[in-house]
Formats: sequence, structure tokens, C-alpha cells
Amino acid sequence: MTAMLQISDLRTSFLQAKEKLTVIEGVSLTVEPGETVGVVGESGCGKSVTSLSVMQLLGRNVQLEGSIRFQGKELLSLTDKQMEAIRGNQIAMIFQEPMTSLNPLHTIGKQIGEPLRRHLGLNRQQAKERTIQLLKEVGIPRAEEIINDYPHQLSGGMRQRVMIAMAMACTPKLLIADEPTTALDVTIQAQILELMKKVRDEHGTSILLITHDLGVVAEMCHRVIVMYAGQIVEEADVKQLFDEPKHPYTRGLLGSMPSLNTNQERLDAIPGAVPLLQEMPAGCRFAPRCPEAMEICRNKNPELLTISDTQKCRCWLYGEEEAQ
Ligand code: SF4
Ligand code: MG
Repeated sequence: MTAMLQISDLRTSFLQAKEKLTVIEGVSLTVEPGETVGVVGESGCGKSVTSLSVMQLLGRNVQLEGSIRFQGKELLSLTDKQMEAIRGNQIAMIFQEPMTSLNPLHTIGKQIGEPLRRHLGLNRQQAKERTIQLLKEVGIPRAEEIINDYPHQLSGGMRQRVMIAMAMACTPKLLIADEPTTALDVTIQAQILELMKKVRDEHGTSILLITHDLGVVAEMCHRVIVMYAGQIVEEADVKQLFDEPKHPYTRGLLGSMPSLNTNQERLDAIPGAVPLLQEMPAGCRFAPRCPEAMEICRNKNPELLTISDTQKCRCWLYGEEEAQ
């Protein structure tokens, strides 16, 4: 079976006047048809840059190396025009802040209808009917009226629904969702997650879900990638990740997760911060914050090791040089 998305050894670098800053270093991940893969980590770990690399939305001064295959087709060798035809059509994206993808100057009807006309060749009336149907599917009441509204006239939760309707308009095969519920309150968040699941299950959409929220991961994902400082540090099935987290960073993230049954705020937040690009540690990038750091950790960055069929981890605790 051809993977829906296969990223191999991706390196994303920002080219500056005198230097090249590599933000994503050797990321490989696969999303199978119908699968939801979560990408977690604190902000600044490269989650969003990874997703924007797939969409090639990072602008001109960016170098993408490695391979990004969508249904077997190499995206990195496409022209801008070919990429544009895929974006919003076969691969769609939703963001944390709907206002970044909704145009404040266009009515809801126009924003959803326009890609339907462009990608699917619908006429004005067909596009309008399909738009109303899509808005109803995402639970927007009075869809016939809402199409004439502008984004600022809607609540945050409604705007997020509109964005999902827009993303799903052309029934994409792959949906990339970057913190889709982070800006919403808990009740709306739960509704939006339910909606994404419904859409996924009805259309068999694959989802790459970027989030810092492990609760969202538990709710939505089949598999999880944990990123730290531009690299993957752990990959596991969702149950494995929660039951037997291997990487000290993953354990730290789980430890700082507020318990679902209490109203506690963060428990043991991981001390320290994600290192800056210019100050990347020579060895394991997590070593300055790791409670289990050993001598070797400060000198040599471990490889991402295969621990079992379904789990990988980048840490000397599991490496061959462990006993030295
Ligand atoms: Fe901690 Fe060492 Fe593992 Fe890095 S390699 S996570 S410092 S134990
Ligand atoms: Mg982000």
C-alpha cells in the first residue's frame, strides 16, 4: 500500500545573509491512508515548520532537502503551480487561528465557494449549494444566512468550523491540522475534535495533527511522533506512548499533562527551555534538561533507534553504548 504521506530525512533550513539555520534535521515520518498521526512537542520544536514544509508555505529563503512524497509523488520536485493545484484540493490545512486562513474581506460563501469552482469546476449556483451543504455538515446553523457573513461576524468556534468546512470542501486525502483547537475553550474544543473525527471517518481522510496537547493526541491519534529541537525523539502507537513512554522528554511531557480527572494546572513542568538554534547542545539536544543525562549524552547525539516494530526512541538509555 502506498503511504498517503511519506517524509524521508527532511531538512528544512532558513537561508540568511551569512548563515544557514537548519530548523528541521532529518525528520522521517509516514501517514498511512485513513491514519491520524500526531506530532507533539513544546513550541519551538519544529512541529509547525514540518507541516509548513509539506505544504511548501515557508517562503523563498527556505531550503527543503530530503523527500516528501504524497501518494508516492515527490512534492519537492513540483513547480509552484503544480503544488498550488494540490494545496487546498488533495492536501488541506487548518490552523490554530482561523483568521490566518480566512480572508476578512470575503464572505464565508465566497471563501468556501471559490476553491470549489477553481478545483472542482463547479458553477456559481452549484458552488453555493455545496457550500451550504458543507456548512451544515460542520454543524453551522442557518447556513443559508451565514454564507453572506464576513469572518469577524462569527464566534471563534464558528470560524473554526468554517475553516474545517473550507478544508474539507474538495474532500482532501490528507488534512494537516496545526493546533486546530488550541485557541478554543474546552467545550468547543471537544465539539471540534468530534467534528474532525466524523469528517475523517466519513471520508477516510488521513490526518497529520500538530499539537502540544497530549489530551488531543489521546482523543484523536493512532500514532504519535514526539519532536524536540527539530528532531524526532520518539515515535510510538498512541497506547504505547501513554503506557510505556521511552524518551525522558516524552515522560516529561506526560508528567506535565494536567490530569483529566482533576482541575490541577500543570504538574511537573519540564525545567528549562528548548535550546535556541544557535546554541544547540553538541550531544543530545535534551541533555541540559534531562534528569537522566549521562556522560555520553553531553558529547554525542544518539540516533533514532528502533526499539520494537512500532516504537522508536533517540536516547542513549536504549542505545548500544548504554553500558559504557
Ligand atoms: Fe537524557 Fe541522555 Fe537520553 Fe538525552 S540521551 S534523553 S540526555 S538520557
Ligand atoms: Mg506551532
